[in-house]
Amino acid sequence: MGAGFGGLAAALRARSKGYDVTIFEKGQQLGGRARVFNRGGFKHDAGPTVITAPWLLEELFQLFGKNIKDYVELRKLDLWYRFIYPDGSSFDYTRDIQKTLTQIQSLSPVDVQGYQNLLNDSEKIFKIGFDQLSAKPFHNLFFMLRQVPAMIRLKAHRTVWQFVASHLKHEKLRQAFSIQPLLVGGNPFNTTSIYSLIHFLERKWGICFPMGGTGSLVAALGKLAVEEGISIKLHAEIKNIKAANKQVIAIETQKGEVVPCDILISNGDPKVTYTMINNNNYSKNWKVKFREKYSKYSMALFVLFFGTKKQYANIAHHTIWFGKRYKELLSEIFHGKKLPDDFSLYIHRPTATDPSFAPKDCDSFYVLSPVPNLKADIDWKVQGAEYASKIIDSLNDTILPNLKENIVESFFMTPEDFKKDYMSEHGAGFSIAPVFYQSAWFRYHNKAEGIKNLYLVGAGTHPGAGLPGVLCSAKVVDSIL
Ligand SMILES: Cc1cc2nc3c(=O)[nH]c(=O)nc-3n(C[C@H](O)[C@H](O)[C@H](O)COP(=O)(O)OP(=O)(O)OC[C@H]3O[C@@H](n4cnc5c(N)ncnc54)[C@H](O)[C@@H]3O)c2cc1C
Repeated sequence: MGAGFGGLAAALRARSKGYDVTIFEKGQQLGGRARVFNRGGFKHDAGPTVITAPWLLEELFQLFGKNIKDYVELRKLDLWYRFIYPDGSSFDYTRDIQKTLTQIQSLSPVDVQGYQNLLNDSEKIFKIGFDQLSAKPFHNLFFMLRQVPAMIRLKAHRTVWQFVASHLKHEKLRQAFSIQPLLVGGNPFNTTSIYSLIHFLERKWGICFPMGGTGSLVAALGKLAVEEGISIKLHAEIKNIKAANKQVIAIETQKGEVVPCDILISNGDPKVTYTMINNNNYSKNWKVKFREKYSKYSMALFVLFFGTKKQYANIAHHTIWFGKRYKELLSEIFHGKKLPDDFSLYIHRPTATDPSFAPKDCDSFYVLSPVPNLKADIDWKVQGAEYASKIIDSLNDTILPNLKENIVESFFMTPEDFKKDYMSEHGAGFSIAPVFYQSAWFRYHNKAEGIKNLYLVGAGTHPGAGLPGVLCSAKVVDSIL
């Protein structure tokens, strides 16, 4: 159920084990949050754009003796991120470590060694947090308890910010190297430092871009699925999971079709999945009830898509544009009840790498602003358009001069769209937040509680959101099928 990256990966893994697999996807396309928009000659990936841990994708093709290279080109980028600060200065984070070190040297010489120490510590976290644990099931509390000494050694109780600040002195570098949890829905000021393993992951395997966009990666997985005999049903929302004697026996779609099944793998939001069992008429065990009641959801996202009639050649493929406030702004986004007046932005300009995203001499952009989720008091029907104008004004006055005269085909997604389109609880961008007390055993388990043949993959389950996370959740399911 569901064809996000987690659902697609789980479907392929189940197929490789010999199951007859049918994918039921509510939307009109595969990919979930990674769907694609095409407007007036401009193409936009709707979601993930920073592709790390490419081997997790390669593995899915290898399951069938195939090579991902025959389906899609994963191009390694030289410039990973350009960080732009409110004073107009910038910092380039690059594949060539010497270039990164030279930039650090010119900003803060003492941090050159600090960055190398940060990478060393990040590798130590990676070796345990990713290599040993990310694809392991965390259903058993005793298994979790056995990991406690390693977690204490790695100081997992520290936040990402504390980890980064212990290595780097300069505020601009601290900001640049602490934003990574935002890509998986976490506030760097309370996300466990285990997520600092991302630094080593990026350094060792780089940041890739699938030529043609993330949509072409989804299309490659879809092609593989069809070749291997997986049946795909689009526009097929599952409304009810029929269970009897603690087993799923069938699913029922919104069109009233009832399809019997031996096992069900859900890529939907875990809370929503549990409420669909016998139309929410199932006695949930205490763990489900506890998570349902107390889970803290990630922030939401406002995503503005547009084309430009000219090219902005000086804008990098991945740009982070920092506003004046950092910690305070994040606190308002994660804990506030209203839309902050200011913002920090991630700007995606795929035309920097791949001209196929826009007509000749034009650019395609998406601009992402983390915002409070639907628990806050924001009327997006009113505030959405105002917020979009504010972002356009700010970019027009800073890094995208004359944007207002050149912008075409603009539209946006608010947290309301995330709720409606992806059935995302509270319109969250990344399901439940990646805080320590919602990780591993404390996160939704990949095997459902109290239902023998129901499995869960995707951002709300262990190990968590982001492509590497959801692809690993499919590996966990694979290991327990
Ligand atoms: C704007 C944005 C940018 C991001 N950038 C990055 C990035 O650069 N790098 C990165 O690694 N990660 C990034 N992420 C995070 C990453 O995209 C997600 O964590 C990941 O794609 C989620 O995958 P998933 O398997 O949980 O499924 P989802 O993508 O959430 O898909 C779930 C699917 O299940 C379907 N579904 C749900 N309920 C039902 C039902 N009842 N019946 C049928 N179908 C159902 C939904 O329609 C949906 O298609 C980004 C996310 C967003 C939103």
